[in-house]
Amino acid sequence: MAVKFYNTLTRKKQVFKPLKPKSVGLYTCGPTVYNYAHIGNLRTYIFEDILRRVLEYSDYKVRHVMNITDIEDKIIRDAKKAKKLIYEFTEPYEKAFYGDLKKLNIKEAYRYPKATAHIPEMIKIISALLKKELAYKADGSIYFDISKFKKYGRLSGLKKRELKAGARVDNDEYAKENAEDFVLWKVKKAGEPWWRAPFGEGRPGWHIECSAMSMKYLGPTFDIHAGAVDLIFPHHENEIAQSEGATGKKFVNYFIEGEHLLVDGEKMSKSLGNVFNLRDIETRGFDPLAFRYLALTAHYRSKLNFTWKSLEAAQNALDNLREVVKNLKTATQHSNILKNVGMLKKRSMGKFTKYINDDLNAPRALALLWEVVKSQKLDNKTKYNLIVDFDKVFGLNLAESKTEKIPSQILELAKDREKYRKEKNFKKSDEIRKKIESLGWLVEDALSGPKLKRK
Ligand SMILES: [Zn+2]
Repeated sequence: MAVKFYNTLTRKKQVFKPLKPKSVGLYTCGPTVYNYAHIGNLRTYIFEDILRRVLEYSDYKVRHVMNITDIEDKIIRDAKKAKKLIYEFTEPYEKAFYGDLKKLNIKEAYRYPKATAHIPEMIKIISALLKKELAYKADGSIYFDISKFKKYGRLSGLKKRELKAGARVDNDEYAKENAEDFVLWKVKKAGEPWWRAPFGEGRPGWHIECSAMSMKYLGPTFDIHAGAVDLIFPHHENEIAQSEGATGKKFVNYFIEGEHLLVDGEKMSKSLGNVFNLRDIETRGFDPLAFRYLALTAHYRSKLNFTWKSLEAAQNALDNLREVVKNLKTATQHSNILKNVGMLKKRSMGKFTKYINDDLNAPRALALLWEVVKSQKLDNKTKYNLIVDFDKVFGLNLAESKTEKIPSQILELAKDREKYRKEKNFKKSDEIRKKIESLGWLVEDALSGPKLKRK
């Protein structure tokens, strides 16, 4: 079954056709390591991981490259504030980023190239652009001349009149309203890191790094470039201009961009105090994979509204699924009790492939997973096998649903509490419950007896 994606270049859902049979070159814009990745960034990385897993589910071999931006305006500003050298400042955030990916069960990329390790590659592209007169020097910096690149604005749908001829912007990030000549190389400034280049000493602008690193590891033309919607303009637009301007070849066949995450219906911002990261989620006692589950409940091209309540619901759903899988694994019911199981299994798998291949419809596929869980027509073994198979795409680690080891101190306390409860000494049992809670655990009295859960 063909895989279809919404391609920003054509504004259509298109059947995916790779350049080479059964292999995919995938580039995704990585983190700027000046802080921890926030949950909006993480949502994008989860969407990109689902994209990769959907391709792998269809037996594509995916070569995934994700850059690390370790030189940029914000980094320089904040490293200065922290009185640290650039790499001293960025290294802990880079490490934390890899840790986040692991906790979210995001598959490791083929390469995580760093900008500062690819300056010669950037210089080469800038030199080519200068030679073709697509770039020019002004006040010691090098700018891309957008009026010379006829296709400028095609990806983001900018109209000609929005292009400000001759105006220049040298910030790494800038407003959407204007399209201006953007900076490729910034002239050396006091107190900033700099490199030597044939066109003058300085440092690269942000956009050029992605052209340099994607083409180095994936070739001048590759299959898919992904990122968040706010990168369509100017970042991805500029990448196309730089790359195609320098090589004269088509840069990327499919641009796939994921929507934003909102917090309580609002855009995340420092002033609202709603910029959360994975540490905040863990501090409140949630499993990082509950956030992954939450991300799967919205289509990547829809906004996802994050609330602590929705995360709680996701955590409960994930816990329930784990419980189901654990029980199914040890269940003894055989398929010969039920009729047509083979046919039903095939039908479920067919539906699953149809949903995920239709522009990564994870929410629909997740609903199917629950249909399988609740089905009266499927036997336990078939259910188990289907869930494990679907989880290759979901990446919720359902098959390894390891129940957390409860410390013996907590178990002892729970036992004492149960004893007092049976004796109807509720004052004492309540005291112990509070003690257990203060140690980070919850006791829930279920029909089958008390259950311990992480707070
Ligand atoms: Zn990028």
